[in-house]
Order: sequence, then C-alpha cells, then structure tokens
Amino acid sequence: MKRYSIEQSDKQLLGSSANIHYVLRFDRAAAHLIDIQLRIENVAGPIELYLPVWTPGSYKIRDFITNVGDLYATDGNGKPLRIEWLSKNRFRIEHTSSSSTVELRYCYFAHERSVRTSFVNRWHAFLMPGNFCFAIAGREYEPYHLHLHLPPHWQSVATALSPVTPNNTDILGALNYDILVDSPIQISPDPVHHFSAAGVLHQLSILGESPFTIPWLIEQLQRIVEVEAQLFGGLPYDRYVFMLHFFPDSRGGLEHARSSVSGWDPASLTDSEEIQRFLTLLAHEFFHVWNGKRIRPIELGPFDYNRENYTSMLWLAEGLTSYYNDLFLYRCGFVSEKSFLRILAQERIQRFLEQPGHRKMSVADSSFLAWVKLYRSNADSPNRFPSYYLKGSLIFLLLDLFLIQKSGGKVSLDTVVQALWQRYQQNPAEGITEAEFIAIAEVSTGISVESLLSQWLHTTDPLPFEALFKGIGLQLTQRPVEPETIELGDTHFTMPPAKVWTGMTLKEGKNSVVVEKVIEGSPADVAGIGVEDAIITIAGHRVYTPTQAIAQFARHLHQPVSITGSCDGKLYTTQLTPEPATEYFLEPLSNAPDQARHCYHRWLERPVRHTHSGTEVLLRC
Ligand SMILES: [Zn+2]
Repeated sequence: MKRYSIEQSDKQLLGSSANIHYVLRFDRAAAHLIDIQLRIENVAGPIELYLPVWTPGSYKIRDFITNVGDLYATDGNGKPLRIEWLSKNRFRIEHTSSSSTVELRYCYFAHERSVRTSFVNRWHAFLMPGNFCFAIAGREYEPYHLHLHLPPHWQSVATALSPVTPNNTDILGALNYDILVDSPIQISPDPVHHFSAAGVLHQLSILGESPFTIPWLIEQLQRIVEVEAQLFGGLPYDRYVFMLHFFPDSRGGLEHARSSVSGWDPASLTDSEEIQRFLTLLAHEFFHVWNGKRIRPIELGPFDYNRENYTSMLWLAEGLTSYYNDLFLYRCGFVSEKSFLRILAQERIQRFLEQPGHRKMSVADSSFLAWVKLYRSNADSPNRFPSYYLKGSLIFLLLDLFLIQKSGGKVSLDTVVQALWQRYQQNPAEGITEAEFIAIAEVSTGISVESLLSQWLHTTDPLPFEALFKGIGLQLTQRPVEPETIELGDTHFTMPPAKVWTGMTLKEGKNSVVVEKVIEGSPADVAGIGVEDAIITIAGHRVYTPTQAIAQFARHLHQPVSITGSCDGKLYTTQLTPEPATEYFLEPLSNAPDQARHCYHRWLERPVRHTHSGTEVLLRC
C-alpha cells in the first residue's frame, strides 16, 4: 500500500505512463467552460468516482460539483454506461462489458476568480485540478496524466505538474491524486519567467496587470527564497512556481508543495506599507513550503476530500507562518527595525487586543471550527472568536521571546522550526499531534513549554506581553493619536485627529454612512448602534461619508453627541461619547539590563546573505 506523499520531481515523470488520463479542451473558454474527457484504463467491474468538496489550505465546503454539467459515461467501445449517484459529489459506474476502459465526458463552469477556484475566459485560465478532476476511489495513489488542448494564443503554461516529454507542457503528470489536487495550472498569453534562487529553478507567472517590473519582482522573490531557505539549510524541491494574480478584487494567497498563488489589487499598491504587506503575503505563502504543506497537523494530509477535515492545530499551520512572515519581512531587509516593531505593536498586538473575541474562545477551538467561524466570518465575528492567524502568530512571538530569555540566547524559535523540519524528513507520510509538537519543542531546546503552551492554546487567559517584552528590554505602551500639525510657509495650524475611538467601522453607503462592524462594549455598542444601520446626522450635521462622520466625532471628544441613525428604514436617535483613538508602541525600556539587550539583539539578528560579489548583511532600510 502506497503512503501519502506530496513530493514529486520533474525527473520522475519524464517518459512516464498512466492509466488515468484527463483531456482538457478550451474551445468554449469565452463562455467560461472547460470541456473535460476522462479516460480510465484497467477497469474490471464497477468503479466509484468523487470530486472534492473543499480545497486543502482553505477550510470551507465549496461543493465544486455544483459547476459540473453534461456528465456522460461510455465504455471503450462507445457503449453508454449508467451513472448512479451515491451522494452529492460521488457516483458509481456499473461496468460489466468486455472493454477495460471507461470514458467520461463533462463540462465545468469555471467562473469564480480567486486563488482557490478555477476561472477561464477568452484571455487566460487558472485551473485548480481538484475543482474538476474526479478521483477514482481506490486508485488515488496511481499517476494521473493531464492533456492540455489549448487555443493558439495560450501557449504559456505555468504549473508544478511535471511535463511527460521534455520542455513540453501538452501532457502533464502527477504521481498521485493528492499532487494533482495540489498543483494549480496557470495559462496566460504572457511568458513564464525563469530565475534561479538558492541554486534551484524558480518560475514566475502573472495574470492581470502587474504594477511592478519583472526584474523587481524576481529580485524580491530571490531574496525571500534565499533567506527562508537559509533557515532550513536548502530547498526541498527541484522546481517552484510563483503564480501572481493582479486583479482589482484580489487579496490573499494559497500555498502548495511546489507552487503558490498570491493575489493583490494592483491599484492599492501605491505606498510603502501596502507594498510591504504584499511582500509579507509572498513570504507567508512561501514559508508554507515547509510549514503547512510538509510540517503539518496530523489531520491535514492525507486528506478526506469528501467532508470537513477538523484540526485544532491551525495555530501551527497559519500562526507559525504568520509570525515568520513578519520576521522574514525584517530579515529580508524589506523593513527597518523600527517599522518591524511598529507592525508588531499596531498591526498585530493592537488589532488582537481590540477584538473582544480573544476573551470568548480559545485559539484551538477557533481552529477546529474554522469551517463555520473564520471561513464564514460575519460582522460580529471579531466579538466572538480570535483569528488563529493572529493569535497563533502572537503565541509564537511570545514563545520565541521566552526561549531566547530562558536560554540566554542559545536557542530560539528557529531551533524548534529546524527540529520540526527534521521530524518531517524522518516521517513525511504523517503529520504531527499537539503532544508531538510540544515534545519536539522541549527536546530541541531543553526548555519546558508544555504548561505555558497549553494555557495559551486552550484558554482565553491574557497573553503575557508585558513580562516577555520586559525580558528583552522593551515595553508596550499606548498613547492617544497625536493631532496633525500642518505647516503653511511660516505659519501652521493643528488639525483635529484623523482617528477617533467609537468602536464602529464605517463604510460609504448610498448617500449615507453605513455601520460595518461594532465592537462589543465600545461607545457605539453602548449607544445601541447596530451593524448595517445608517448614520444620518451627528451633532445636528448631515454626514455623507465616513471621513465627515469621523471629523464630527473628533470635534466632540469626551462629550455625548446626538446621532440620528436609521435601522430598516426607520429613524432613531441616540447619544454616543467618542473617545480619542490610541496607538500601541514597542519602545526600549530606559534601564534595561545588559542581559535583556543581549536577548533583544539575538531576537533581531539578520542573516548574512551570500551574493556573487561576496557577502552582505541584509540591511536595506
Ligand atoms: Zn497561510
């Protein structure tokens, strides 16, 4: 019996044969349709086929079968075969004829543009094979071949699937069904770009309009690959594909074993902070090469594609990756030390503390319920549960600081991650349990972490930011947002603050301001304002935009101000007391001992990067 594996090298597929062939045709791409033919050989008796209801890495039931149509089965002689449905995504074909071949024809409506779903149009195609390639029950560990019949202007194919003949993407192969599902295919009229990083071939394929030049993108990707590879002592693949989507509504990514897909709205990439966030996403998806795809919770590979796969350890897959995407942003030299501390204080810790959900549910439960919580978020979600990305990343930040302090800088979270990587290499077929994770952390560092981790993971107790920052000579402080002073030649004036604390987020509606979210216990909540209410007037002034509303609140800090709101078309009045907005900072303690300073420097060491012209310490900002 073959075991679960997502490892594949191009060499393994060259000249290979298969008994399961998918043929994809795109004659109806303008109508967003893929015409699919599945040929299964070596069939003896009835067979069962099923289509995944979800995509690994994205914990939501998506029922891709919804988009399948015109299903028709025959044997190898063209004789029709009966299809008997067993459940919404699974059917059986009664096969008793003398032919050992079964053929299936159907179409797939590929019209959902995201990094996790297939979309095809007259210009290009992004294909997630798990959306439309049925698995043949009991034959998941056989090779699958995929034949592409492309329109003439679609000659640029990027995928981690391996060519069966050299330098030809007409026939692509996967060693097993898991690899097929894990290997998106991007087909574009633009060329695939090739580059080397850490001595290995990488490819870059772009859909949409890139706001960056190709050389700039390649330079940043090389930096990310080289710095991350340094932590693990090399790369675990022979080739890797970066797929980028630049569409107006894109934001987010999805990881795979030998590729990743990352999307961003190009129009938003106009300031350095947003570009840093985009690079953070690239570093995040790339870190999943090790953590998430290979080092993983025991429930996440092998997968059951027919139902939810529950795990209470997404704090490992996503939290550890999120902490490292920030660290790598710094280690790559994309941000200065000061910016790194600002990101931690304001975009991570402050955001976490301002959402009451962390006091209601543990991060382990938030992970287990990802299918109905994080992936089904609504406006009230921040009040009910913590994100395992955010709380998970803060747990690993604190664990890193704890290990550095306990060992006087001899070990850090890097030590644990390297030990987790060794564990994967010893037993790639099986993921790890929480107990095994804790054992690996303790054995590799010689430090006991069990009681601390079980408190952080399984309770809603406050996280010990103050104590652990103090140990590296930092303090977390909170200050009101300063009013902005505007200089005009030799005079100046002070603007009201651009932010106020009401606890509600506002969006622009039709000629009105609409409430998007309300934080429990905040001034807006106390005032009885609800999600989707419209704010009509503030202090007797009609407001039409969120900026106007904030300006009105800013004029009345600490004072009850009258509001006319509207719920379900009926007006109401209430009073709200706006408070000054505050910001968090991580600042040096004035009298930190040498030991704390030593730990701080150990935490923020930057790796040395080897380049053609010698070595450079990564300090670009
Ligand atoms: Zn992730």
